[in-house]
Amino acid sequence: MTIDLRSDTVTKPTKSMLEAMFNAEVGDDVFAEEPTVIALEQKVSALFGKEAALFCPSGTMTNQIAIKVHTQPGDEVLCDTTAHIYNYEGGGIAFNSGVQAKLIPGERGRISAQQVLESMNPSYDWLTRTSLVCVENTANRAGGSYYSLLQMQELSDVCKKNKLNYHLDGARIFNAIVENEYTSSDVGKLFDSISVCFSKGLGAPVGSVIIGDKEFIRKARRVRKVFGGGMRQAGYLAAAGIYALDNNINRLKEDHKRAKQLATTMSGLPYIDNVLPVDTNIIIFNLNEKLKPEDFVKKLASHDIKATGFGKQAIRFVTHLDFTDNMLEKTESVLKSI
Ligand SMILES: *Cc1c(COP(=O)(O)O)cnc(C)c1O
Repeated sequence: MTIDLRSDTVTKPTKSMLEAMFNAEVGDDVFAEEPTVIALEQKVSALFGKEAALFCPSGTMTNQIAIKVHTQPGDEVLCDTTAHIYNYEGGGIAFNSGVQAKLIPGERGRISAQQVLESMNPSYDWLTRTSLVCVENTANRAGGSYYSLLQMQELSDVCKKNKLNYHLDGARIFNAIVENEYTSSDVGKLFDSISVCFSKGLGAPVGSVIIGDKEFIRKARRVRKVFGGGMRQAGYLAAAGIYALDNNINRLKEDHKRAKQLATTMSGLPYIDNVLPVDTNIIIFNLNEKLKPEDFVKKLASHDIKATGFGKQAIRFVTHLDFTDNMLEKTESVLKSI
């Protein structure tokens, strides 16, 4: 039994998901006649109360498309210091859009309306034009923390007042939604565009969508083609997304419960300095100085548990669909034995 805690992207499709994929009706998506892709796009846009959506190969692409559509070269995007769009998309902000990022030190990955007000530039010719605010919910590098509806709303108000576009990197938005009172349509009302991933906690093998109004998606379609993301019989993949939306949202709570239990066990272990608060399915913890992260990861590997370092003394564990109660038990006993 291999236990993989490196990411929630490691899940493999279940038999019933594969069946849904196998049975998908397909067509050519570049000609906009892919029935299953269209069904998925309609399902997701309805879920978030938006006009349209666009199916893409990855969450990096959906974020990068949003940045491209919302900005002009030379503009700047405001985001948290830990943002995926800045840290983990290969410098795409600069490469694809010729845009720079102004990083805001948020609170556990969450920036505030006040910080945006203080960071945006007035519109003098000599100042960089601030045109986009991007938030991440849940925030990955910050340990899976989530925004409250009020925080997202306050940011939305500031963006509207100052004519800034407002994008949500919602790679794990459903992890936030199942832990909060707000619904996907509450979230949809606030943002100009939303990126959602099926290949994380939802357990699909491939795929993300970008959601927005018709005009935004029309432009996004063009950019997707330019970025090389125009797929053909992509309905086989979209079928996995539809299956994931129908079956794998509510169960995300189980991943959160297991993550919390693991964190509680770990915070009592002598070689662990501290465990960051666990709100969803991500556990970030720091080893004490005596234990090198490489050695810790090797020890886990010898018990068939995969994990990776997350900078300095930190390690990140992510729980997911393929991490069962049995695996939780085994992981706890291995951790206690180290
Ligand atoms: C995983 C992730 C993405 C998208 O990653 P891809 O691997 O390109 O699908 C975007 N934002 C966040 C916060 C993520 O964790």
